[in-house]
Amino acid sequence: MDNDYDALVIGAGVIGCAVARELSRYELKVALLEKESDVCGGASKANSGVLHSGIYSAPKSQKARLCVQGNDLFSKFTQEIGVELQRIGKLVVARSDKEIEELEKLKKVGKENGVLGLKLIDVEEVRRLEPNIRAQCALLVPSAGIVSPYKLTIALAENAWENGVKVFLNSKVTDVSKKENYFDVKNDNLTFRTRWLINSAGLYCDTIANMLGIERHKVYPCRGEYLVLDKSYDHLINHLIYPPPENGSGGLGVHLTPTMEGNILIGPSAEYIDEKDDIRTTKEAMDKLNVQAANFLKQLPKDAYIQSYAGVRCKLIPKGCEASGDFVIEEDEKVEGFINLMGIESPGLSASPAIAQMVVDIIKSRETLKPKDEFKTRRTGRRFGLLDIKGKSKQIETNPKHGHVICRCENVTEKEITDALDNPLGVRTLAGIKYRSRATMGRCQGGFCRARIVQIMEEQYKMGVQDITFRSGDSRLFIGRTKDLRGNDREES
Ligand SMILES: Cc1cc2nc3c(=O)[nH]c(=O)nc-3n(C[C@H](O)[C@H](O)[C@H](O)COP(=O)(O)OP(=O)(O)OC[C@H]3O[C@@H](n4cnc5c(N)ncnc54)[C@H](O)[C@@H]3O)c2cc1C
Repeated sequence: MDNDYDALVIGAGVIGCAVARELSRYELKVALLEKESDVCGGASKANSGVLHSGIYSAPKSQKARLCVQGNDLFSKFTQEIGVELQRIGKLVVARSDKEIEELEKLKKVGKENGVLGLKLIDVEEVRRLEPNIRAQCALLVPSAGIVSPYKLTIALAENAWENGVKVFLNSKVTDVSKKENYFDVKNDNLTFRTRWLINSAGLYCDTIANMLGIERHKVYPCRGEYLVLDKSYDHLINHLIYPPPENGSGGLGVHLTPTMEGNILIGPSAEYIDEKDDIRTTKEAMDKLNVQAANFLKQLPKDAYIQSYAGVRCKLIPKGCEASGDFVIEEDEKVEGFINLMGIESPGLSASPAIAQMVVDIIKSRETLKPKDEFKTRRTGRRFGLLDIKGKSKQIETNPKHGHVICRCENVTEKEITDALDNPLGVRTLAGIKYRSRATMGRCQGGFCRARIVQIMEEQYKMGVQDITFRSGDSRLFIGRTKDLRGNDREES
């Protein structure tokens, strides 16, 4: 049967994509089902993009083990899919005697977890490394880094596809039932059959587990809001700057995160919410972020902010609970073949390569997996805007479409827009272009380039403006053209 699979993965966040890709190394028929119109629609797109080292989680927990292992694997992992990683290091800074004690505790936990290179540094050294930061001393964590979380997830999905994984977008799993030695998995139109079913549905992992009568865990959504600083302030910090975490606060505390693209993020806040999809940003949280950032940063110009966003943590513990909870990653004891990934909150991004290997190991413990003769990796060059003048000239010589800049803030060329539109998953939305090329993500937030992108979609991809959506089918941006492409008024008939 066409829809018969060896393994089916529910949810195309960083975890589902990493798992599907890891499975694609073997002679297995694998499908990845995602309810949204693109991969990376959930927490995987809206986080800090920090490669953690493993200093926060309790020794012997899955979080600690998989984070340390994931951090170790990350350089090879990102190289194989052509995504950049920068190990810029982290400073956890103390601003009081009590916080100095917290740093000692973190260092001890980190050492127990096997994190290398941890070092307490004094005020002089902090000043030398970070002249704009207020601190009495700090814990230096050299193995911490940054990665673009959406580029990572998209690259994982596309590389999985290149290695034979079937990716079904707009494919919400509505029902799952266990038969004798396989599962029936339904979306709105199709029924898939699979021997192994992997639940990586993020915030909805409990809904999927409930479909099979598994009710041990419930998800408590906890929103984290961020402020984004314009790139012209990238000189303010050189490392990740964190406070010591507060137990029971829901997060690691408001930190300053340089991004791969040169912005600085301030956040995230931590607020338990009722609705899993409530990704609003609020004035209250923004005001608090501003105050908390000013505790670290000696100067914080107000005109530096260009955007805000929010992501929702997938917590298995309710508000007010002191414990931090652990990842649940297991083949369910009662439902053979059902691998449940629950509560994959931070450091899930950092642990993703290790989690993917763990899922494959669970399957390997039950059957022999034959590696494929060829497993494709991918090499993608740096994006045009980050090249030096020589590199840019070479690109333009190779393809003149690189000589036509569409997004001025981020220096994104026509060739990069058409590459984004030609993605192997067939995603043709403005958000799809944004996350693949970075167009619309600069200072003007698309004010200049959006119309030019729409024109490319109309002229080169023959899309009607009415069919152009931001994300899924219900996010149409236009009801029609008032002028045709030559500038003549259109007559309504
Ligand atoms: C504010 C915040 C900051 C964070 N910072 C960091 C950090 O700096 N470093 C780090 O390591 N980790 C961080 N994390 C954690 C990290 O983002 C998550 O662990 C990771 O993204 C989880 O990935 P996922 O694939 O499990 O979930 P998601 O990315 O949410 O993916 C789940 C997918 O399942 C899909 N889905 C749901 N239901 C269905 C269904 N019925 N049918 C089909 N598809 C379905 C969803 O649409 C979604 O695309 C942070 C998280 C948050 C919220």
